[in-house]
Amino acid sequence: YDWRRNVMKAELGLLITRSASSAAHQKVCVVGGGPAGFYTAQHLLKACQDVQVDIYERLPVPFGLVRFGVAPDHPEVKNVISTFTQTAHHARCCYYGNVNVGTDVSVEELREAYHAVVLSYGAEGNRSMGVPGEDLEGVYPAKDFVGWYNGLPSNRELNPGLDCETAVILGQGNVALDVARILLSPIDELKKTDITQRSLDALAQSQVRRVLIVGRRGPLQIAGTIKELREMVNLPDTKPEMVASEFEGMAEALKVIPRPRKRLTELMLKTAVDPPAEKERQRRQAASRSWGLRFLRSPLEVLAGPDGARVAGIRLAVNRLEGTGDGSVAVPTGEVETMDCGLVITSIGYKSLPIDPAVPFDPRKAIVPNSLGRVQQAAGLYCSGWLKTGPVGVIATTMNNSFDTAHSVVEDLTSGCLDATSAKPGSTGIGPLLDKRGVKPVSFSDWEKINQEERRRGAAQGKPREKLLDVEEMLKTART
Ligand code: FAD
Repeated sequence: YDWRRNVMKAELGLLITRSASSAAHQKVCVVGGGPAGFYTAQHLLKACQDVQVDIYERLPVPFGLVRFGVAPDHPEVKNVISTFTQTAHHARCCYYGNVNVGTDVSVEELREAYHAVVLSYGAEGNRSMGVPGEDLEGVYPAKDFVGWYNGLPSNRELNPGLDCETAVILGQGNVALDVARILLSPIDELKKTDITQRSLDALAQSQVRRVLIVGRRGPLQIAGTIKELREMVNLPDTKPEMVASEFEGMAEALKVIPRPRKRLTELMLKTAVDPPAEKERQRRQAASRSWGLRFLRSPLEVLAGPDGARVAGIRLAVNRLEGTGDGSVAVPTGEVETMDCGLVITSIGYKSLPIDPAVPFDPRKAIVPNSLGRVQQAAGLYCSGWLKTGPVGVIATTMNNSFDTAHSVVEDLTSGCLDATSAKPGSTGIGPLLDKRGVKPVSFSDWEKINQEERRRGAAQGKPREKLLDVEEMLKTART
C-alpha cells in the first residue's frame, strides 16, 4: 500500500484550498466508515476549508449497515452510497479500510496524530434475552441472520436451519419485519437483489411457511413503521394470521393517537379485523405461507426438542399493560403459554461495544457518554451515529446527529478550544505504525476494484452485485 499516494492527494487538496485560506492545517480522523463516519466527514469538509479528514474502517469495504444491514430488497435506501462516494473522492478526504481501531492502532495513537478524533464505529454487539435455552441450535440474533443474508464476512458460515415450518421472531421493530419478509419472500423476487447467492440457495430450500412476530407490549407500542408493515401485508403468496381479540379497544384508541402511529394502527386493524374484499380473500385463500403479529408476550425459555440440542418451541409469559402509550410497561399476568417452532430469531436490539479501554464508555446505556458529540472528559475526542445515540434511528437520523457532532468539532477547532495551530502528522504518523504491525490498509480506489468485481459477478447472475464474503478475497481483489 502506498501511503504517499493518499498523502499526495491530501497535499494537493490542501495546496488548492491553502491558496484561498491562510488558516492552520487541521487533521481530523473518523473511526468507522458507515453512515455516521461519512456524514461526519461530509459536514467537516464542507464547514472547514482547511481540514483533512481521514476515515479508518475495520473492514476492507465501506458503508457499514448500508451494506450489511439494509435489506437487499430495499435498493433505494442504498442510494446514499453515491453521496458517501463523493465524500470519499473529496480532495481532502482519505479512506483507510482494513484498519481495526483498538487492535491495529489505539485511539490514543490516533489522538496523538490528529487534532480531533471522531468515533463512529456503530453498534456491533447483540443484546441477549437472558433466558435459558438462548444458546440452542436454531436460535439466532437478528444481527447475525441479517449479516448472513447480507454477506457480512463474520456471519458467512451461519447456515441457519430453515428445515422447519414455523419461525418465531422476538421483537417487532423494522429489523424484525425485514427478517420476516426475507424469510417469506418469493425466491424470484429475492433473485433480483444483491442478497448473497449462498443465502438465496438456502432460502430456496427453506421449509419455513409461517412466521410469528412477537412483542412484549401491545399493538400501540409496535416499533416497526408503516412502510415495512405494508410490505408484509402485500407480500405475494402470504396471508396474515392475526388474533382479532388482541385488537379489542383499538378502534377507540385510534381517535386520540397522533399520526404516523394512527396510520400504522389502522393498517394493523384493517388486516386483523376487517373482512377482506373478494380479491384479497382469494389471494389469502391461495397463499401457501403466513405471517402474524403476536402481542403481550415475553420470552421465558427457549425449549429444546427430544435431542436436547435443537430448538422446538418457546415458552412465553403473557403480559398486560400498565399505563398508556409509549411509556406503558408490560407486566406478567402469571399466565404462561408455549409456541412450537423450529427457528427463533431474536430482534431485540443491537449494542455498541467498547473498543479501547482509554475511551470512556457507559456500559448501562452502551454508548460513549457525550454532550453534543463531545466525549466527556476527553478533549479532542468526539462520537457520532449509533455509538453516540444508541442503536436507534434510520439513516436520516444518523445523518442529523453526525452533522451535529461535526458542528461541535468545527466549533472547537475555530474557537481555540482545540489547539489547531500545532502541527499534527495525521496519516503520515499512523502509516508507519500500521506498516510495522503488518497492517495493509485498503484505499477507496482499492474498494472500487472490489466494487467492480462484485458488480461483474452479480451481472453474470442477473443481480446488481454478488458480494465477496471473505476478507482475504476482498484484500486479494483490492490488490490486483
Ligand atoms: P454502522 O452503519 O454500523 O457503521 C459503523 C462502521 O464502523 C462499520 O462500517 C464498521 O465496520 C465500522 N467499525 C466497527 N468497529 C470498528 C473499529 N474498531 N475500527 C474501525 N471501524 C470500525 N435505516 C434506513 O434509513 N433505512 C433502512 O432500510 C434501514 N435498514 C436497516 C436494517 C438493519 C438490519 C439495521 C440494523 C439498520 C437499518 N437502518 C436503516 C438503520 C441504519 O443502518 C443506521 O441508522 C446507520 O447504519 C447507523 O450508522 P453508524 O455509522 O452509526 O453505524
